[in-house]
This record gives sequence, structure tokens and C-alpha cells, in this order.
Amino acid sequence: KSLPYFCRGEVVRGFGRGSKELGIPTANFPVSVVDHLPADIGTGIYYGWACVGNGDVFKMVMSIGWNPYYKNTKKSMETHVIHTFKEDFYGEILSVVMVGYIRPERSYDSLEALIAAINNDIEEAKLKLELPEHLKLKEDNFFTSVT
Ligand code: ADP
Ligand code: MG
Repeated sequence: KSLPYFCRGEVVRGFGRGSKELGIPTANFPVSVVDHLPADIGTGIYYGWACVGNGDVFKMVMSIGWNPYYKNTKKSMETHVIHTFKEDFYGEILSVVMVGYIRPERSYDSLEALIAAINNDIEEAKLKLELPEHLKLKEDNFFTSVT
């Protein structure tokens, strides 16, 4: 299968679904990056490592879903980096390695339920990424070869 999966691309504007208002901003990849996703990486929530530009490598959770802008014909990839940044980083290069799968996408009855689910995902990602086989990916040359 295709995990771990390495990719990088410019951070583009999303659809203002208000992720930031929920306290969980998600950096969106452009279609060019999404188009390269292997077919066996389905929709759902993934965890892994991410870095912005030449910055530090942090834990991340990523949602892969259907992109409403393209009438749900293309996937979207939205990464929440588990770190508090001082500023937005639109236009910068985001590098990620997707390491594992957490759960399928689903809809929630309330905003509170959605936020609780995402916070569970973040806790699961933090724990899983401490496994030695996952920690070693944080040091991968992929993250030091950003120009
Ligand atoms: P959009 O709909 O444009 O994606 P969001 O509300 O999801 O808007 O906010 C995403 C933006 O927030 C990212 O593109 C990035 O510039 C910024 N940002 C700040 N902190 C983070 C973080 N920890 N993880 C992801 N994006 C972040
Ligand atoms: Mg977003």
C-alpha cells in the first residue's frame, strides 16, 4: 500500500469553512498535489508529520475528502499542523508525510461533536507518532531537502 506517502506543495486558500474559527485551521493543498494521490489513499482522516518551508517538523492530522469546488469530482487534502504558529502561511511550501490512517469521514450532529472528534484524532496522532517506526520518519531527508 501507499503509506508512508510523501508530498509537498503550496498552501492555497480553502473555502472558508471556518476551520480557524473552530480553533483547528487546515492548510489546503492545490489540485496539482491532490491529483498525484495514489488511488488506494481513500477519503478519511490520516496522521503524520509536516513542515512549513524550512521550518521544524511537527505532528499533523490530515483530512481527505471530496472537494465541493470541483463538484466533488476531486479530493481535497487539508492538513492541521499540531503547533501554534504566529502567522498564517498561505503561499508557503508545506511538506508532509502521511504515516497512518485513523478513521473514515463522517458527519456530526453538532459542532461540539465535530470538534470533539477532531480533538480525539489529534490525541491519537500524537500517541501513534511516538512509535519508533513513525518517529524515524520525522528525521527523513525529505524534510531537509526543501529548497
Ligand atoms: P482556509 O479555508 O483558507 O483553508 P482555514 O480556516 O482552514 O482557512 O485556515 C487555514 C490557514 O491557517 C492555513 O492556510 C495557514 O495559513 C493557517 N494556519 C495557522 N496555523 C495553522 C496550523 N496549525 N495548521 C494549519 N494551518 C494553519
Ligand atoms: Mg482549511
